[in-house]
Amino acid sequence: MKKVFCIGELLIDFVAENQGKDLSKAKEFSKKAGGAPANVACAISKLGGDSFFVGAVGNDPFGSFLLRILENEKVDISLAQKSDTFTTLAFVSIAEDGERDFVFSRGADKELTYDSSLKSNFDNNIIHFGAATALLGGPLEETYSRYLFDGLTKNAIISFDPNYRVDLWKNKEDVFIRKCHPFIEKSHLCKFSLEEAQLLSGKEDLEDACQIFHEMGTKIIVVTLGGEGTLLSTEKFKKTIPSIKVSPKDTTGAGDAFIGCFLQQIAQYSNFEDLLTNENLLTNMVARANKAGAITTENFGAIESLPTLQQLDS
Ligand code: ATP
Repeated sequence: MKKVFCIGELLIDFVAENQGKDLSKAKEFSKKAGGAPANVACAISKLGGDSFFVGAVGNDPFGSFLLRILENEKVDISLAQKSDTFTTLAFVSIAEDGERDFVFSRGADKELTYDSSLKSNFDNNIIHFGAATALLGGPLEETYSRYLFDGLTKNAIISFDPNYRVDLWKNKEDVFIRKCHPFIEKSHLCKFSLEEAQLLSGKEDLEDACQIFHEMGTKIIVVTLGGEGTLLSTEKFKKTIPSIKVSPKDTTGAGDAFIGCFLQQIAQYSNFEDLLTNENLLTNMVARANKAGAITTENFGAIESLPTLQQLDS
């Protein structure tokens, strides 16, 4: 089975309790682990896969809290770094209609430094770039580019999820697009939401968007559409695989559960090129990943809601 290296941020989400959208009025917050690449690492290990988290937290109690959570989920944290900068914090309030207020205090996640000894670990394995904060600058951004290069020279499968956050890229969407394109060009697999696919391709129509991404170089594209299913696109075929019917409580982490489950299945195949031509197999993989996403929506929170192998098989 291939190992999956998930590179990027791990942070504290302070979620405001018992009030509307206005963060200035918030009095109580609950402390949650956040960060898409870390969620993906947990999704993979919960399903029995071999996942590594590569990212930086502060050398402080929040950093210890976060790493302990990953360790409890059996994610390998031996490649995580502890920085003298404080752990990255996000404060968020969500009103009942989904409106949100957001304050982001970026700290240690941006400090991930390049480690040349990692390159040999990438050999024929999988690297997942879950870019939410990585492209915002700092040493992490350069580290991202260097690991992308290392992964390609070591024959690794490259997976990319831009994890676009409106609050982080306000008035600089063009910079976000420019920074994502090299990853789309070099990735074997990209996962987008509808909004990301349209933004990054400049096309409204999803089929046109996928065409652009294939021309850029991506072999497999999955566009997750919430309760509407997932569009799977290769150069040979395109199809939408329906979602599982559930009563969602909280969709946080559904996308990470989806891509984690998809990668965990890809990790079990030695020949990626063969996979590309196997429409049935890819379709079944997406259907299973849809199930993982759906299960995650049935409970509150991200990591705690990710399915185990038993739940997924039941
Ligand atoms: P995230 O906010 O975590 O990045 P995302 O926008 O990338 O999420 P979604 O499309 O919300 O991802 O969800 C990923 C997958 O989870 C979907 O493709 C679908 O299979 C499943 N899913 C999400 N919401 C629902 C829902 N309401 N009902 C059924 N399945 C869902």
